[in-house]
Amino acid sequence: MTDDAFVRLFQTRAGLTADGIVGPATLAALDKAFLPSAPVLEAPEPMLTGWDRRSLQNLQGVHVDLVRVMSLARTRSPVAFTVIEGLRTIERQRQLVAQGASKTMNSRHITGHAVDIVPHRPDGTLAFDWPLYYQVAPVIKAAAKELGIAVTWGGDWKSFRDGPHWELSRSAYP
Ligand SMILES: [Zn+2]
Repeated sequence: MTDDAFVRLFQTRAGLTADGIVGPATLAALDKAFLPSAPVLEAPEPMLTGWDRRSLQNLQGVHVDLVRVMSLARTRSPVAFTVIEGLRTIERQRQLVAQGASKTMNSRHITGHAVDIVPHRPDGTLAFDWPLYYQVAPVIKAAAKELGIAVTWGGDWKSFRDGPHWELSRSAYP
């Protein structure tokens, strides 16, 4: 089939005048036929390969974009880390506020927009250590930038710095 014949056939099938000229109406019909209508979101499953069991459990119910960032960062980080908390019930948040472990009932954990991650020491134990947070943080920020996903690190907060805490930015993900 020649290009001209294809254009005429396509125009006929699309209900357009079969004049063989690719004008705006034909272009729009071609775009509609061949371009995906929305960006295709990666399936979560392949991202989750390689995570430890505890992290996998805590990633349940977390926003897929935050999972994408953490999953990419996990493959690149020189220091291994575990997701120790993700989606939180309102009841658990109340307990944490009562204990002084959290300052707000407006937590991003309640909506699945936040995770807490803790780096590992060389022996595999969890290290709530700022020097290790600082090794992981640039890797997570780079992964987020690469994926075009805006994240906020609790370690950058001015009051109540929260080293393990990462959330999707409130402006991009209200
Ligand atoms: Zn947190």
